[in-house]
Amino acid sequence: MNFKVPRGTQDILPDVSWKWQRVEKIARSICDVYNYKEIRTPIFEQTELFQRTVGDTTDIVQKEMYTFTDRGDRSMTLRPEGTAPVVRSFVEHKMFGYADQPVKLYYTGPMFRYERQQAGRYRQFVQFGVEAIGSDDPAIDAEVIELAMNIYKKTGLSDIKLVLNSLGDKESRDAHREALIAHFSPNIGEFCSDCQNRLEKNPLRILDCKVDREHPLMKTAPSLADYLNEESSAYFEKVKNYLDIAGIEYEYDPNLVRGLDYYNHTAFEIMSTSKGFGAITTLCGGGRYNGLAEEIGGPAAPGIGFALSIERLLLALEAEEKSFTDEPSLDVYIVTLGDAAREKGFEILGNLRENGLRSEMDYMGRKMKAQMKSADRLKANHVIVIGEDEVNEHVVQLKNMADREQKRVPVEELIEELKK
Ligand code: ATP
Ligand code: MG
Repeated sequence: MNFKVPRGTQDILPDVSWKWQRVEKIARSICDVYNYKEIRTPIFEQTELFQRTVGDTTDIVQKEMYTFTDRGDRSMTLRPEGTAPVVRSFVEHKMFGYADQPVKLYYTGPMFRYERQQAGRYRQFVQFGVEAIGSDDPAIDAEVIELAMNIYKKTGLSDIKLVLNSLGDKESRDAHREALIAHFSPNIGEFCSDCQNRLEKNPLRILDCKVDREHPLMKTAPSLADYLNEESSAYFEKVKNYLDIAGIEYEYDPNLVRGLDYYNHTAFEIMSTSKGFGAITTLCGGGRYNGLAEEIGGPAAPGIGFALSIERLLLALEAEEKSFTDEPSLDVYIVTLGDAAREKGFEILGNLRENGLRSEMDYMGRKMKAQMKSADRLKANHVIVIGEDEVNEHVVQLKNMADREQKRVPVEELIEELKK
């Protein structure tokens, strides 16, 4: 029997996992600076949570969920996204009662969608996301967007752009909805069956269809921009003003529609503009979701957030040829000759590690020369050599691999010497 990693998933191997850790560290530290706190929710939730919030007419709910019946006959779903679980938790734990509002949260972890596998699209992928819940100040929209942009900048990416739209409030969306139905109805027969279903339930989704993208009626569809009421336009202007203040450039795209039902007002995506990047250029998506907390039984609590996938961030870095290359190296490798030296080496190894020095020795019974090769392969900054004489004299030979200089160092002075 030949076992393979399931289709659409991947093993993150040790020569790459450090890059993931690097990205996570950057994202966490930026959240820390912006005063967002981590929240960890389960990997599965009641199916209904996603049906109600993400929306019955979305690709996620219709085609992509990993849903199963548990042994207690309950329908459960591996989370396809992070916002609904976070808002569920916000409501359940009455975070709306916290003295400090808005409640600013971040999360990271695997998400699951049954998708057709292609570059940048997996069935299990890792999202990093933030949610700011409890405020409808347009400044917080700008803060969330700025935070997302800063994560990318901090990783070294530069070929990115922010695309921005406003979906407006309910009144604006209802007016637009009527216009869309009127626009598509006469020719809906020419569209895919999904779009035919969407027409009455949620015609906005038609604009996000990947099958009928090129249909001429798509280009002439009524734009949300023309249906924003005064309040929604004013809100959008304020968000843009705060982005200007923050010095963040954006491209306005009235056709930007996010893949989930719960968005209103601000919607944005961050895209890679690198030539080397594949067809899927969206790195991050986010927006405002006023009304979501009420939808799942909580009080009114306006929110805004985004999610990015670490897979696509790393792909974008590769496309820009900026992939991290400075893999953390070893501080010390211990080379020993003979049994007594090996025991001494093992003792010193424990001591080095206790002092926080990343260190290693041979466990394969290699000859001295091969041990030296290991040290090279592992890019050790220092090599300690211990033979019989060194054991007897209670010293080691310490070699600095940068300048190839070697000196005798008494064991008691070793740590001090290395920390110089
Ligand atoms: P798309 O239009 O590419 O399907 P989406 O609208 O489904 O994206 P969101 O639900 O907004 O995506 O998720 C936010 C981010 O998560 C995306 O911008 C993308 O970076 C990432 N993402 C979404 N689906 C996948 C996937 N299957 N594999 C890897 N990353 C993904
Ligand atoms: Mg999708």
